[in-house]
Amino acid sequence: MTLPDYHLHTRLCRHAEGEPRDYADCAVRVGLREIGFSDHAPMPRDNYDNWRMNQNQLDEYVEWVRRAQRDYPQLTIRLGLELDYLPGLESWIAELAGRYPWDYLIGSVHYVRAGWDVDNPEKRAQWDREEPREVWAAYFERLTQAAETRMFDIIGHADLPKKFGHFLKQGDEEIYRPFLRAARRSGVAIELNTGGLRKECAEIYPGKRFLALAWSERIPITFGSDAHLPTEVGLGFSEAHRLARACGYTQFCRWAGRAALPESLSPTE
Ligand code: ZN
Ligand code: FE
Ligand code: FE
Ligand code: ZN
Repeated sequence: MTLPDYHLHTRLCRHAEGEPRDYADCAVRVGLREIGFSDHAPMPRDNYDNWRMNQNQLDEYVEWVRRAQRDYPQLTIRLGLELDYLPGLESWIAELAGRYPWDYLIGSVHYVRAGWDVDNPEKRAQWDREEPREVWAAYFERLTQAAETRMFDIIGHADLPKKFGHFLKQGDEEIYRPFLRAARRSGVAIELNTGGLRKECAEIYPGKRFLALAWSERIPITFGSDAHLPTEVGLGFSEAHRLARACGYTQFCRWAGRAALPESLSPTE
C-alpha cells in the first residue's frame, strides 16, 4: 500500500519550485499512486504577503492540475487548496470554496495575529520577543476557530509553532484539547505533515503526544509532505505511517469531491 500525498505546492506561491507535472513525475518515480495539490490560496487582497499566488493565478493553477491529470492517467491527482484561516475571512473562504470543484480544502493557521506568520523564516526574530506559551495559546485559539467554521476538510500542520524548536512544554498538552474537541464536533480531519521532519523541530506535525490525543478523540487523519520541491513528494511517509500506527490509528482518509473515503492503514508499510 502507498499513502496519498495531499499537500503539494507549486511555483505559483513564489517560494516553491516546479509545476504539477514535475510533482507528478516524481510521484510516479517514487511509486505513489495518488497525490493532491494544495497550493497557498490567494487572499482577498493581492500581495497580502510574499508567499502565495495572486487572485488572477487561480485559473492557471487549476488548469495546471487538470493538465497533469490528463498527462498522468496512471496517477490519481486531486485538486485542493491550502487556505489561511484568519477571523473575518469566512466569506472569502466560502467564495473560493465555490469557485471550483475542489477535492478537499486544507485550513491552516500561519498568522497568530496580523503581520506575524509564526513559521516565516524572515520573521523568526519575533520569537525572541515572545512568550512561547502565549504564542501557542493564540495559535490554538485560531485553530479551534478554524475547525469550528466547518469550512475545511483537513486542518494543516496542527502544531506548527514548534517549527523552529519552540516546543510546547511537557505537561502543557491540554492546550490541544479544545481544538481536538472542536475538530471532532465539526468532523474535520488533521494531516500528518512530514514537512516538519525537514525543519528544525525535526518531527512530523503533529508530534506523538498530540497525535495520541487526536486518536483518543477519533479525529480522522490524512497524509501530506508539504513539498515545496518536486523531489520532496512522499518524503517521510514511512515514518508518518509508523507514527499513525503507534498512536492507535488503523484508518486514514482519501478525498474526492470534498467527501472523505476512509481506508484501512496496513499494520506494516
Ligand atoms: Zn509554503
Ligand atoms: Fe502551511
Ligand atoms: Fe503547505
Ligand atoms: Zn503548508
